[in-house]
Amino acid sequence: MQRTLILLKPDCVQRRLMGRIITRFEDKGLSFVAMKLMQVTPDLAKEHYAEHVKKGWYPTLESFITGGPIVAAVLEGLEAITVVREMLGATNGLSAAPGTIRGDYSSSRQMNLVHGSDGPEAAKREIALYFKPEELIDHDPTIAAWLRAVDE
Ligand code: ADP
Ligand code: MG
Repeated sequence: MQRTLILLKPDCVQRRLMGRIITRFEDKGLSFVAMKLMQVTPDLAKEHYAEHVKKGWYPTLESFITGGPIVAAVLEGLEAITVVREMLGATNGLSAAPGTIRGDYSSSRQMNLVHGSDGPEAAKREIALYFKPEELIDHDPTIAAWLRAVDE
């Protein structure tokens, strides 16, 4: 089992797409183990997007991600990190494949609705940025037996 951090970015919340996006992750068989509505501060934005802070476009990313409430959540599932990234699609909504979240709902390279951790190290670091360990709720979804075979 793997865990990954997702953020429903301010455009997702403002466009009233939260429910539809959450449904897609639930439909896929991923489990929510943490979730909260919150406001990203400039400091948190700089930590989260440390790899981009020096880029010319970073200030616009910071104003976007701090410009309204977001929902942070942790999803759990087999290969959850890759599965979520594949569900998101390419960074730029204009080139993201139809059928992906960004391909279906975004026409922007910045306002692409959802963040997903891009690897195990990032997932660990980002989950710790947004959640205390006790906020991650371990549970066994009763539907698990109908989502995958016992040897998967
Ligand atoms: P991803 O979220 O797919 O991992 P990146 O790590 O490249 O994408 O970028 C982080 C976020 O920064 C993107 O999701 C997007 O919101 C924003 N972004 C990416 N490229 C640009 C750009 N050229 N100008 C403005 N914002 C960008
Ligand atoms: Mg990235």
